[in-house]
Amino acid sequence: MKLYSTRNKNIEANPKDAIIKGLSSDGGLFTPKIEDLLANKIDLQKMLKSSYKDIAKTVFKIILSDFSDDELDTAINGAYNDDNFCGYDKVVTPITKIGDNFLLELYHGPTSAFKDVALTILPYFLTIAKNGKSHQSNDSQDKVYILTATSGDTGKAALSGFKDVNGAFITVFYPTDGVSSIQKMQMQTSQGNNVSVVALNGNFDDCQRLVKEIYVDEEIKKIAKDNSIVLSSANSINIGRLVPQIVYYIYSYINLANEKHINFGDKINFVVPTGNFGDILAGFIAKLLGTPINKLICASNRNNVLTDFINNGIYNKNREFYKTISPSMDILVSSNLERLLYLLSGNDSDYVKKLMDNLNATGLYEINDKIKSLVKENFEAYFADEDECLDSIKSAYNKDGRIIDPHTAVAYACLKKYEKEKKGTPSVILSTASPYKFVRSVLPCISDTPIDKLDDFMCMEKLNELTGEAIPKNLYNLKNMEIRFDTTLNYADCKEYVINSIKRM
Ligand SMILES: *Cc1c(COP(=O)(O)O)cnc(C)c1O
Repeated sequence: MKLYSTRNKNIEANPKDAIIKGLSSDGGLFTPKIEDLLANKIDLQKMLKSSYKDIAKTVFKIILSDFSDDELDTAINGAYNDDNFCGYDKVVTPITKIGDNFLLELYHGPTSAFKDVALTILPYFLTIAKNGKSHQSNDSQDKVYILTATSGDTGKAALSGFKDVNGAFITVFYPTDGVSSIQKMQMQTSQGNNVSVVALNGNFDDCQRLVKEIYVDEEIKKIAKDNSIVLSSANSINIGRLVPQIVYYIYSYINLANEKHINFGDKINFVVPTGNFGDILAGFIAKLLGTPINKLICASNRNNVLTDFINNGIYNKNREFYKTISPSMDILVSSNLERLLYLLSGNDSDYVKKLMDNLNATGLYEINDKIKSLVKENFEAYFADEDECLDSIKSAYNKDGRIIDPHTAVAYACLKKYEKEKKGTPSVILSTASPYKFVRSVLPCISDTPIDKLDDFMCMEKLNELTGEAIPKNLYNLKNMEIRFDTTLNYADCKEYVINSIKRM
């Protein structure tokens, strides 16, 4: 499927090229046209017997259409196997009950983050796209340098996915103090000879702005070219990150129909803890491809810029930025919203460019009435503050017997708000992180034990004792791992760091 820059209809790319480039040279995001998606609806009835891998292949063949069957098989089998995903019954994304609704558990990958679903497979896509050979192949000239901004989970998932992949180098920028202590430890202890990690003095939006600026920086582009290096991205601005996330929406639907929780054809809601708008956008694409979705419910924390946008059509990032206990959602500029605007405007890249120019110049934009009503037709939006988040962790445990992390808890709180107004449609909450990763927030909600004298690992043990829920090995093993990366930089020094890294490759 041809992909286009959201900001310029004359810039197009094949999927492989778009995955290598990450971002379009004009700063736009590579995106399919809406009519191309609508023309490729999947017949879900025919897929009722399909496995996760079968669904993945069906979706990939539609959008990543320049990958051969063999290439897709290599990628899918390399990523979605039992070594990487240890969900119940060896399922990539298990679905379980929570009250009358459902939890789509996306955190059973190698770093206990939902990002693993995409970041275990992106390195395969990228290396295959680059040299048409397998992941481990050694003989391509160009190296790829992957720059990644993280609000916590992307960083570790990308470091893990790209570890020792030949011809690839990766640097992750995370905001100082913007991530949980376990997330920080996960990144700082990363293994592999091709990885580096930098703490940036700033917040996630600074990290994301930095990475976007580096891609379009003429000096860096030239130095990269002279050193035979291609810059790419592991953020959800890369279409190769987004496409794997479509799969679990379709899988959920098929699974619920197979288990007779719903009648085939009935619509369901998805409640998505949202930051950069990548995950929920994947849900919208799943809907365009034929999944019977009623509403995509956008759940935000105190940084509720998306709640306001969906409810009134005005995107306004000129507001206070809050650090919360759901740090992966502490974002004021949600990059993938640009793709939604592109799709809903009927691929009107001139219009999208105008909005993005407004955002850059004034920090805000307002969409027209037609797009406003399309947004309302497909989305609902709520937010939960810190107390509501903590109350949700408590109530999920006490009423439903489930332990959820703070991001999932934000979604849980938002679903309760939605159900107060509109009941009736079964909902699937996307559970995006293991509660063990945010154990210092979770444990006090379900136990009176004071935690100030306990380290993170003692907290994990305590949570395990109380609930019987297994501690993910990748998290507990951090206890004995050495810190390899403790660099902290100011924004102004990051460009030089990148240039030096390129020269050393
Ligand atoms: C990344 C992340 C989110 C937000 O996903 P987006 O695609 O950025 O909207 C939510 N929860 C967790 C735990 C995450 O890591």
